[in-house]
Amino acid sequence: MTPSPEPIQGRPEPSTGEPWRDSSSTPSAVVPRRTARDIRSDSRLDVLHAVLSAGETTRNALAQSTGLSLATVVTVVGELLAEGIIEERKVTAGRIGRPTAMLGMNKARGLVVGMDVAETYVRAVMFDAALNEILSFESARDEHVLDPDSVVEGIGRTLDQLLEKAGVSRADVLGVGIALPGIIQGPQGVSVIVPHWTWQTVELEHLRERIGLPLVIENPLKSIATAELWLGRGRSYSSLATINLGTGVGAGIVLEGRILRGATNTAGEWGHTLLVLDGRRCRCGRHGCVEAYIGAPGIQQTLREIAPQHPLADLDMQNDFILALAAVADGPEPDPAVLETIDRTAYYLGSALADLVAVVNPEVVTLTGWTTWAIGEHLLAATRKHLLEQSPAGSTRGVELVVSTVRGNSVATGIATVVLERFLVDAGLLTSNIPVAL
Ligand SMILES: [Zn+2]
Repeated sequence: MTPSPEPIQGRPEPSTGEPWRDSSSTPSAVVPRRTARDIRSDSRLDVLHAVLSAGETTRNALAQSTGLSLATVVTVVGELLAEGIIEERKVTAGRIGRPTAMLGMNKARGLVVGMDVAETYVRAVMFDAALNEILSFESARDEHVLDPDSVVEGIGRTLDQLLEKAGVSRADVLGVGIALPGIIQGPQGVSVIVPHWTWQTVELEHLRERIGLPLVIENPLKSIATAELWLGRGRSYSSLATINLGTGVGAGIVLEGRILRGATNTAGEWGHTLLVLDGRRCRCGRHGCVEAYIGAPGIQQTLREIAPQHPLADLDMQNDFILALAAVADGPEPDPAVLETIDRTAYYLGSALADLVAVVNPEVVTLTGWTTWAIGEHLLAATRKHLLEQSPAGSTRGVELVVSTVRGNSVATGIATVVLERFLVDAGLLTSNIPVAL
């Protein structure tokens, strides 16, 4: 395993993901035959990934990095140039010779917005069409206000404020993606079930009206898997798990280049698998879930068990607690209770990851989410040790555990990536493989 070359940060999913199907679509057991159109679309996606990944590149380099023939690359690049998705810049290499044509994403093609709706905040992030972050805006959410109308209005207002801050209008935006923590169903009669919010099949037609732009909704775990696939380790690995550590805990899973969705688009709820039989009560109602130990409130519970009188034990807000924990861990004065809390958290995390790795067999596991940004580097070495010690023989051979290199809010980045994909599908440039479009 290699340590992360970079510090910590944040989460998205694309058409390489398993197609989201509604109940009227092809049964998942039936694998449709690939058509020439699908294959063409895959070539386009490969080329797009490669251009995004490289920043600036050439046709020859694209042929090398994608494994496509130069003739195919030339054709696909021509189509993407014609649609204004990528652009060509002339660069002279050295003082003699013809200028080399460099290719890059066309940043001016339009803006996309990704929104992460979490328990304690709504974060809206604006990107250009090359997925460079331009601006972000965050509204605090009262974690106790859960009625759908208030949540929808909070989302709409946050988007309005982002656009105002950026000085742009809705006409400049290609689309908006929203990650909601629940079971996303659709695309007909789109509804969202959020068990923790006691939402049961909430129809979100009024969200579409409030947003007033092409809209994609996705689960955060699929969003972080998309971010990792397009912008992180997915560039060089085809099977990976990306672990979101925040209030909740979950895994975005990519298997052989495809995002794992499962029968009802809920795959990855690893946070609610069992770590301790008859253990701590989880907010899902079960006892002993992984999340009850390594979700932010679970980490605070660990500190309470170690040192009930510790000044951090009673902090009200979970974000404040995790940041305070990080500040003490980063500080010059060792605090035995904090060190013990981090050690025990790494023990829980490594043990739970050992099970996940045994089932999924990824090449790499990445850590993401706001708890990771705060204390991920403190957790890494011990977590890795426990993961290796507890994994069944063979299942961790060669697996890497690293902090994700996807920076910023990876949920927002991921859902913005889905929006970009959706736009490309609607423009006829990719075959539809995208999840829920409202
Ligand atoms: Zn649970």
